Amino acid sequence: MLTIGTHMSIADGLAKMAENVVKMEANTMQIFSRNPRGSGYRTYNEAEIARFRQIREENHLGPVLAHAPYTMNLASAKKEVYEFACMVIREDIARMDALGIEYIVFHPGSHTGIGAGEGIQNIIRGLNQAITGRENITVLLETMSGKGTEIGVSFEQLRAIREGMLYPEKVGICLDTCHVFAAGYDIVKDLDGVLAEFDRVLDLSLLRAIHLNDSMMPFGSHKDRHATIGDGEIGLSALLQVLGHPLLRELPFYLETPLDDQGHKKEIAMLRKKLA
Ligand code: FE
Ligand code: FE
Ligand code: ZN
Repeated sequence: MLTIGTHMSIADGLAKMAENVVKMEANTMQIFSRNPRGSGYRTYNEAEIARFRQIREENHLGPVLAHAPYTMNLASAKKEVYEFACMVIREDIARMDALGIEYIVFHPGSHTGIGAGEGIQNIIRGLNQAITGRENITVLLETMSGKGTEIGVSFEQLRAIREGMLYPEKVGICLDTCHVFAAGYDIVKDLDGVLAEFDRVLDLSLLRAIHLNDSMMPFGSHKDRHATIGDGEIGLSALLQVLGHPLLRELPFYLETPLDDQGHKKEIAMLRKKLA
């Protein structure tokens, strides 16, 4: 069965978000681990957490994905920026793990001039101070479009990060269809080739989640602009190939398309229908 959901607004609180997933006829969701453009976060009382768990169980919701804030840059050479990032990832791994959330994804970071090699070393140190090895949660590195000095534009860079991990078994990959397409992996004309390349460089067993987005920007543009499904350069048929691919279809899919809840409900229904 297809596991699909969308990004939910954290303003509603944990239990309410899960209720909205059910109303949307989705069966999973992505949430922000804290304010995506700041540093604040909400705390949830026992009753709220219990209600969240109950809704998840009753409706057989799939794995929940938390997204770390965009303000966090673990590749940075600037002391304050780096220390903030180290604190956020350490706290948010622990906080999301305590909620019973399965995955936390983050953008590896931007090296802003020090070079990808140095940036990757910073990310490795930052992750190693955050992961205790005792978590149930799995940390996912997101594939990036490569805008500016972004790290994670190639499977090799993600492999280099994993190779530095003290607890590599706690670290997997989230593939964003918009980002990989913009990075120059041709999922439209050669999805099988891209998956073979992923398997060769990383290993397909590390792929745990898919961000399902169309792309406003062309192939290889290194620009990150999400489009609604079917309205971008990737197109509906290529995205249906992703959803139905034998190597991918058991994974959870999360839409990050520019729509509100009603729009996402329709988008999910449309995808289910086309896939059937
Ligand atoms: Fe992301
Ligand atoms: Fe994404
Ligand atoms: Zn993006």
